[in-house]
Amino acid sequence: MKKVYLDNASTTPIRPEVVQLMTKIMLEDYGNPSSTHGLGRNSKSILELSRKGIAKCINATASEIIFTSSATEANNWILRSAVVDLNVRRIITSRIEHHAVLYVVQELQKEFHLQVDYVDVKADGSIDLTHLVELLGVDGKTVVSLMHVNNETGVVLDLQRVGMLCKEYKTLFHSDTVQSLGKVAIDLQLVSVDFLVASAHKFHGPKGVGFAFVKKNSGLQPLLYGGEQEKGLRAGTEAVHQIAGMTKALEISCVQMNEEINYISELKSYLITQLKTFFSGFSINGNENALSTILNITLPFSADKTAMILFHLDMKGIAVSRGSACQSGSIRPSHVLAEMLSIEDLKKPNLRISLSHYNTKEDINVFIEALKSLK
Ligand code: PLP
Repeated sequence: MKKVYLDNASTTPIRPEVVQLMTKIMLEDYGNPSSTHGLGRNSKSILELSRKGIAKCINATASEIIFTSSATEANNWILRSAVVDLNVRRIITSRIEHHAVLYVVQELQKEFHLQVDYVDVKADGSIDLTHLVELLGVDGKTVVSLMHVNNETGVVLDLQRVGMLCKEYKTLFHSDTVQSLGKVAIDLQLVSVDFLVASAHKFHGPKGVGFAFVKKNSGLQPLLYGGEQEKGLRAGTEAVHQIAGMTKALEISCVQMNEEINYISELKSYLITQLKTFFSGFSINGNENALSTILNITLPFSADKTAMILFHLDMKGIAVSRGSACQSGSIRPSHVLAEMLSIEDLKKPNLRISLSHYNTKEDINVFIEALKSLK
């Protein structure tokens, strides 16, 4: 049975060049980058070249890149330290953030009695910037935390505009760029952000490694204490092979970005055309500016099909996910779609199909045929 992987927003297949480089480093360049002998210095040099490579991709300086174990860690660190060390007393965020931000904010609110304001979300899944401006007008040391590309709908935030607003209102700006990095060009000389986070496994790199961009002189303090790694901001021996793999993956993604994204956009258009042909009445959750890698749809099927749809597709070798998490038989609606859809529409089956340049029209055809048999 042909396997069809349409769940690239969850994770992406690793690029072969990345595996090759990581294997070489694991076998040959195993020194601890903090050791002063030759092997250690060699690892240190791989680490620092990686930092430069990542910085170059986003037009930042190498000293602003801090390696972490994941985007989840980077989000936790930045938001917590903003409260504990930078004296932030208010967080402006949205209810459609990834749980790696949403649950951190809720926890900080409980611990530190912060004020948390949620920006309104429009029916197309975009952030209401007029409401954001209203919220920014209120006094108090604030951090704005808004993701660049939503992981369920692909809807894109105008990073440049929000960065300018935050600058104007003298608030800190943190953005989870996990879904956009490597797919959307980000130039930090043009966009004003204080903190960005990224995760390698979303751009064809290895799992278990990410990084934070932390603007110079931010004042952040570490979450983890121990060794002096990462300029004292993140203790723990750096996973050199993972970091080098992440850098290679990002460098390739950045060089091939236009070509790959054009290809993926064409695939997405083909997918939409096929859906229109065979499932009249399906709807797209999101807007026309959504990133080409993600398509979130509601199918014109009865609500009782919701529970078995993923199982049915899985049996046919097709990996997709739903904006709903299925927990022990009960279906919880997605917290993102809950902000966008009516209660009635929320009950209908929805799917998130997420693409990469490894997908083909043939994959789409297999998926459409499988869906047809569910009608
Ligand atoms: N933020 C977003 C938008 C994501 O999509 C994900 C992954 O699902 C994360 C954060 C968490 O990233 P990581 O797997 O590196 O912890």
